[in-house]
Amino acid sequence: MTKVPTTDIERCLGQIEELVRAGCALVRIAVPRRADTAALAQIVPRVGVPLIADIHFSPARAIEAIEAGAAKIRLNPGNIKSRDDIYRIIDAAKAHDVAIRIGVNEASIRDLTREPVPLAERVDLMLAEMRQYVQLFEDRGFERIVLSAKTSDVLRTIEVNRRIAAAFRYPIHLGLTHAGLPEDARIPSAVALGTLLAEGIGDTIRVSAAGDPVIETAMAVEILVALGLRERRRPELIVCPTCGRTEIDVVKLARQVEEALRRIEKPCRVAVMGCVVNGPGEAADADFAVCAAKDKAYLYRHGQRIATVPEAQIIPKLLEALAAS
Ligand code: SF4
Repeated sequence: MTKVPTTDIERCLGQIEELVRAGCALVRIAVPRRADTAALAQIVPRVGVPLIADIHFSPARAIEAIEAGAAKIRLNPGNIKSRDDIYRIIDAAKAHDVAIRIGVNEASIRDLTREPVPLAERVDLMLAEMRQYVQLFEDRGFERIVLSAKTSDVLRTIEVNRRIAAAFRYPIHLGLTHAGLPEDARIPSAVALGTLLAEGIGDTIRVSAAGDPVIETAMAVEILVALGLRERRRPELIVCPTCGRTEIDVVKLARQVEEALRRIEKPCRVAVMGCVVNGPGEAADADFAVCAAKDKAYLYRHGQRIATVPEAQIIPKLLEALAAS
């Protein structure tokens, strides 16, 4: 999701480009005001990915976004006051062949009841709300829908999505909402989304974290790559955990290798190992391995030693070997 004002068209375009470069296949964009949907109309023809307009409360913004060329709108029908307004949005989406993501989240469940809802009942209520909205869309003859139910809790996210997958036949968007700062969001997001994706649940994902959306995207891509759902486009660095055999600063060496690999665009597996006793064997499935000894390292390619290099030459020699492969 973009995180600059949509009306700042050039910055918005720049961020979309960064997100696409980082691996985004579709980008969500906030359109809280009339000026934002007007900006969206100018942005759509200048980008190569589908844009999703994020709608809160306003039927007018939803219809404007549809007319502006959004590929999909994200809507929580519970935020739209009248059924007629929801029907107007559905009709506009139908006329423009635009999809609608029906979003339900725990916070809106709380708002609807005006009472704190016990944890044990929240998933049931989210599911009931989703069922009611899906029915509303189907009654209007609209089935280009994507379902998403979000909570900030890992277990409830897994449970509600499993139940949605069992109950409905529509695509599902996954996300763990308000997951925190990137360092805090990484593991809960990977557990929640990874568990569901491994079960075959989920068609699109978003990792939510405060700050740079490129970091969110990188995390999402990592999850997909780890599950074999996305091909790795860049080198993968594996590093041994180190032990009493380690004679050099492996973390420092791994950081140097990581930095050097940032410039490499091809997918490959590079290992940094802290010894020459077990390192070569443990890194045998890596494309390249640096097995460090005191003041020097042995360089391996596909399990075969190709060079012995002094410490200062480790990075240049590794890059040379990568370039030659
Ligand atoms: S590769 Fe060597 S240093 Fe690293 S954990 Fe294994 S035995 Fe220890």
